[in-house]
Amino acid sequence: MRLVSPLLRLAGKTFSILVLGCRTNLSEAEALASMLEERGAVFCREARGGTDIVIILTCSVTSAADAKARKFIRRARRQNKSAVIVACGCSVQHLPAEEASELGADILIGNRMKSALPDALYEWFASERDLGPALISRRDMSLGENAAWDELSLDRPRLRDRAFVKVQDGCGRRCSYCIVPSVRGAEVSRPAADIIREVSGIVESGCREAVLTGVHIGSYKSEYGGLGGLIERLSGIKGLMRLRMGSLEPFAVTGELLDALSRSGVFCPHLHLPLQSGDDETLARMRRGYDTDAFRRMLGRVRSALGGDVHISTDLIVGFPGETESAFARSLGFLEESGFGKIHVFPFSPREGTDAAKMSGRVDAAIIKERVRRAAELAGRLLSRYASGKVGSREEIFCESSRPGHTPGVSVVSGWTRHYLKVYALSRGQGFEGTEISVSPKSEIGGILFGEGISKEDFSEELIYCG
Ligand code: SF4
Repeated sequence: MRLVSPLLRLAGKTFSILVLGCRTNLSEAEALASMLEERGAVFCREARGGTDIVIILTCSVTSAADAKARKFIRRARRQNKSAVIVACGCSVQHLPAEEASELGADILIGNRMKSALPDALYEWFASERDLGPALISRRDMSLGENAAWDELSLDRPRLRDRAFVKVQDGCGRRCSYCIVPSVRGAEVSRPAADIIREVSGIVESGCREAVLTGVHIGSYKSEYGGLGGLIERLSGIKGLMRLRMGSLEPFAVTGELLDALSRSGVFCPHLHLPLQSGDDETLARMRRGYDTDAFRRMLGRVRSALGGDVHISTDLIVGFPGETESAFARSLGFLEESGFGKIHVFPFSPREGTDAAKMSGRVDAAIIKERVRRAAELAGRLLSRYASGKVGSREEIFCESSRPGHTPGVSVVSGWTRHYLKVYALSRGQGFEGTEISVSPKSEIGGILFGEGISKEDFSEELIYCG
């Protein structure tokens, strides 16, 4: 058998990636794409019936997410009869091998094992047997104790315009509704030198914006201290124009971190701080580790460090066991007083394997539905209130899409402000993708900002265009 250089064992194989779940999954998908292209494989954006390999990053945060993972594996098999179907990540951690085969999966890659994918693929293609090998599984079922870092690296983003850079994995907390620690394992921080090297390489590749991701990034530790020390080093990378962070647990907002963010010239003033409930008794049953007073004080520290117009977004779980009408009313009241921008509202869904799933005091599904409607309505008003504060200001956006507008020589552009608000605007000229342009929002609808002269036609077609 002719020996092939290990680096080119996948030469010419086409692959596509489907990402379910969180930004950590997205950063891992981007890194997997890097690793496979490094081995000669070819990345394809579309997965419709054509690539040799289809990779699915799965999520297990709710039972619905698990069901979706199964649906995506089945669909990938149906649409790609002869492809190698690879299922990775959180839902795979507890997917029985037999069921995985029935769904159509060929390779299972668990958490902390994703760097094993290229070799698993090579083993698959190297096997001569007509029927192809049996299911290949690379999973560490005793993930709880495993604090090893899974070496993945990213050279440039392929799935998104900005680079999602994974800096941390796992979680040592035990919020009563959360399955994540059992599928992502113990907390581990990536060496700071690797992160700095990676972000420098990404900037050299032409990408100017990086988003730090992880399961509990607030627990990050390195020779430079906590997350603040890392942010300080990254902020010094020449050519990096924007630095953002994924979700940050409220109990991880330290003085060290706020100092570093306030001194950084590239950190974008948006923090996603999941509140989950505005009622102290509910927070206690959730085992969140803070009450509304502590959260209120933390918000005060954030605003004095980063300015009163910092965009603070959050998550709210509605209908947690034992949530009474008055407890829910307290949650709405706390949202109103806290000046949030974007609020993600989630109906409580019992997750097997969590303590909350065994709790008494279940709230009726119809009541949960009604409360979600009320919370979403308030969320819409609060986002509009926050975003309309930017009307008339001057905003820099990184242009993610640009297409000809109705007026010849004028483009309709869209992108995100530093405060993480979506903007649509007109700009004279064309080909603005990947550039930073300055716009002056003149109006706001539903938390989206619109520049001068954007007409209803541009708007509606633009939305259709962006999907
Ligand atoms: S901090 Fe809580 S909610 Fe967040 S991943 Fe850990 S256990 Fe889950």
